[in-house]
Amino acid sequence: MTETTDEDETCIFPGCDRPRVPRHELGGPRPHFCDLEEHNAASTHRARQATDVEEDAASTGSQAG
Ligand SMILES: [Zn+2]
Repeated sequence: MTETTDEDETCIFPGCDRPRVPRHELGGPRPHFCDLEEHNAASTHRARQATDVEEDAASTGSQAG
């Protein structure tokens, strides 16, 4: 039996583990985000960039002495 375990059932916003909203009843692509309005493509992009900056700062911070 091939049961599709869709691991992408969770909102793709970094750190968010809320379930994605179901597909609109009228059709269309299923959103990759939960029902939080602040979780959208733009906010996710910013959040990921912010995370990258933090990681970058942490890796280069050891050079300061
Ligand atoms: Zn979310």
